[in-house]
Amino acid sequence: MKTYIVGNFKLNFTVGEASIYLHKLLKAVPNYRDIEVVVAPSTVALQPLSLQIDRHKMKLAAQNGFYRDFGAYTGETSFSQLRGLVDYVIIGHSERRHIFGEDDKFIQKKVAGAVRNKLTPILCIGETESERAFGETADVIRDQVLGGLADVSAEDLDKVILAYEPVWAISSTKAAKEATPGEIAEVVKLIREILKDTYGVKVAEKVPILFGGSVKKTNAGAYLMVPGVNGLLVGGASLILSEFIDIIEIAKRVSA
Ligand code: PEP
Repeated sequence: MKTYIVGNFKLNFTVGEASIYLHKLLKAVPNYRDIEVVVAPSTVALQPLSLQIDRHKMKLAAQNGFYRDFGAYTGETSFSQLRGLVDYVIIGHSERRHIFGEDDKFIQKKVAGAVRNKLTPILCIGETESERAFGETADVIRDQVLGGLADVSAEDLDKVILAYEPVWAISSTKAAKEATPGEIAEVVKLIREILKDTYGVKVAEKVPILFGGSVKKTNAGAYLMVPGVNGLLVGGASLILSEFIDIIEIAKRVSA
């Protein structure tokens, strides 16, 4: 399986800044066949960047999208509109869940809508600090995995990526803490078991599971060596070009 390094710019960079960043990133990163580099700029930057990117080298992701193809949905961007511009779409990010109130039912429709439009959803799941403190991590993860994937058939499961992002480890969370490799390993194992029990061993092993939460060059290597982790979703650190390039290089070394 490839190693995925995904940079989520969140609400940062103008279109021009994102374009300059991409230009420099394309120059700095060789064509690594075993590393899938993906960047997720703001929606407004997707169209120009889709013309600029070398898709043999890296791919674009949308940070969000809507499952209806068209209609009276002011402010939304449909997966059918994103199709052709991006290969991936981040769905269920904790900021969408907690700031914009997206729940598993809504996320489930988005995941299915993305798959229907031949986009690969990167479904984010993860418990909050208090859910962890109350011993609810396993239940939350189970609900988010099974809820998010409820409309995805076993045949389509290999078209989905999961990202374990404990909310308490995301750098924008107040008093964020770095997750330990042991904490990540435990939840990733649980996710893989949920997939195996629901969809069968063969297909469950094909689903990439990424980790995200305060990833930087100093912890990327250790996180990538956690059993069952197939890549990283990088937020804040991806805004610093040199740091993101370093993380890609670390992924290359770890996967060699
Ligand atoms: C994210 O936005 O998905 C994320 C993990 O953010 P950060 O790396 O800044 O914690």
